[in-house]
Amino acid sequence: MVSDYSLKERLSEGFNGDVLTDVMLRDYTSLRIGGKADYIFIPSDPLSLRGLIEALAAAGLGYVLIGGGTNLLVTDDGVDDVVINMKAFQSLERVGDRGEDSGEDVRVFAQSGLSLQRLVSFCREGGLSGLEGLVGIPGTVGGAVFGNAGAYGCEIMDVVQRVTVLREGSIVVLEREDINATYRSGGLSPDTMILGVHILLKRDDKGTLQERMNEFLQMKKKTQPIGERSAGCVFKNPPAESAARLIDEAGFKGMRVGDIEVSTLHANFFINKGQGTAGDFLALMDAVVDGVRKKFGIVLEPEIGIIGRR
Ligand SMILES: Cc1cc2nc3c(=O)[nH]c(=O)nc-3n(C[C@H](O)[C@H](O)[C@H](O)COP(=O)(O)OP(=O)(O)OC[C@H]3O[C@@H](n4cnc5c(N)ncnc54)[C@H](O)[C@@H]3O)c2cc1C
Repeated sequence: MVSDYSLKERLSEGFNGDVLTDVMLRDYTSLRIGGKADYIFIPSDPLSLRGLIEALAAAGLGYVLIGGGTNLLVTDDGVDDVVINMKAFQSLERVGDRGEDSGEDVRVFAQSGLSLQRLVSFCREGGLSGLEGLVGIPGTVGGAVFGNAGAYGCEIMDVVQRVTVLREGSIVVLEREDINATYRSGGLSPDTMILGVHILLKRDDKGTLQERMNEFLQMKKKTQPIGERSAGCVFKNPPAESAARLIDEAGFKGMRVGDIEVSTLHANFFINKGQGTAGDFLALMDAVVDGVRKKFGIVLEPEIGIIGRR
């Protein structure tokens, strides 16, 4: 990409928000891996985002969207495209709640840049049930909806009622029944930018919610290396199978390429032990895919998103 002052000026015309230049994307990912982006645009409102997308199209430039960067591998040579981040989209509110006596479920609106754990805590504190299984999952609401994040029998799309998106230059509201969400896919095309979601939750006792969440969090801590630098599960579980079990039984637990290691706790997590690179990570992915295919005849599909020059 042409990284010049006039380009930034052109893209910034009428844009409200922050523009960062020459940013190392490793600082934006939980793996702490990734090369440079010439620009990160952080729009402060949907209209600025729409204007930016139009300006990018007019300049013949592409873009990539990152949320919390907790399910992403950014390559070592960085990205050509302009990076967009929605972290200024932070609204969170109950909508039209007529109180417990109404017997109605409660609708909550959350914008896409909000941390998923802020939403989970809001629900716990407000006595709202439906998202307990997502406790401890890092990243943003937008990233969770895009990938239909889930754990312990709960997926975010189970409670999503409608999704507000920017698509093909228009801000539109998609009803849940018109979205084909599946395992680790929110059912939205990659050119769809999630602005916010309405979710529908049951009322429940706060103490019960807290207990359930504590249980899930304990399980998560015992079974996943959550304190280490990872991007969560590297591969999707094949139908009726566990990718972690296949990787483990193919003999890869603890295997290392450079500073990237297959976790000894959960074989579907790859850990950056220090100075790991995207090159190492991709080489380890290839080795694991190859080994599992040879042993079980199953081809593992990536769950993580991979962006950047390759
Ligand atoms: C320790 C650890 C534990 C984890 N445990 C789980 C788990 O139990 N279950 C689980 O499902 N995941 C888990 N993950 C993976 C990850 O946290 C989730 O997938 C999370 O929902 C990703 O959100 P994000 O904001 O970080 O998305 P990113 O990693 O930034 O992006 C992921 C994808 O979403 C897209 N995206 C992001 N925001 C938007 C938006 N506003 N509009 C459109 N597209 C968007 C990006 O373009 C990209 O393609 C774990 C990760 C870690 C590091």
